[in-house]
Amino acid sequence: MKRGSLTALLALALALATSMASSSQVGAWNPIGPKWPNPTAQYDKHTLSSSWQDVADFGAVQWDNVTPSPWDWVSNDSSNNDITRGSIDGSRRTLAVTNIYYSGNTITRITMKFDSAESWYLGSGTPGSGQIDGRSVSAHEFGHGIGVGHTQSTYCPSNSNRATMCASYIIGTSYQRSLEVDDRNAVNSLYP
Ligand SMILES: [Zn+2]
Repeated sequence: MKRGSLTALLALALALATSMASSSQVGAWNPIGPKWPNPTAQYDKHTLSSSWQDVADFGAVQWDNVTPSPWDWVSNDSSNNDITRGSIDGSRRTLAVTNIYYSGNTITRITMKFDSAESWYLGSGTPGSGQIDGRSVSAHEFGHGIGVGHTQSTYCPSNSNRATMCASYIIGTSYQRSLEVDDRNAVNSLYP
């Protein structure tokens, strides 16, 4: 069995104009490749502050809520699927990184790190014009954590229909907090 690791990134882009493709179209999402053997995985958020723990839980539950997929993220402080904050590459480039460890076609571990250099918005309201919305980025990274790759850019309009798994985030927005049809299709296909 081939062993290795993949790194999936959410990179910041100051996108001002993108296509306005309908989010109801299907087939835009992409699998990373390996996936979990069962429709559940744990994550360890215990090193995070209370407000960051809320951000992590928000990202996880977006995927749990998709029907009919039985997918379930479970918070467990003794899991080795560590959710952390730390230095990545300074502000306004990569916002967060999810590392996916796998053996063959099976994910064996994930880790997730949110860049401590960013100006994060950790609330559930509206981020400021220069802020990065933690809940949007968390929802995106937890999608990587179940094996979902980036959505085709034609499905990434600059409005609330923007798929969570679009590769770039538009600063100051919360468009990617809520899953779109394309994101839901991904989890329903990977974990039916
Ligand atoms: Zn990404």
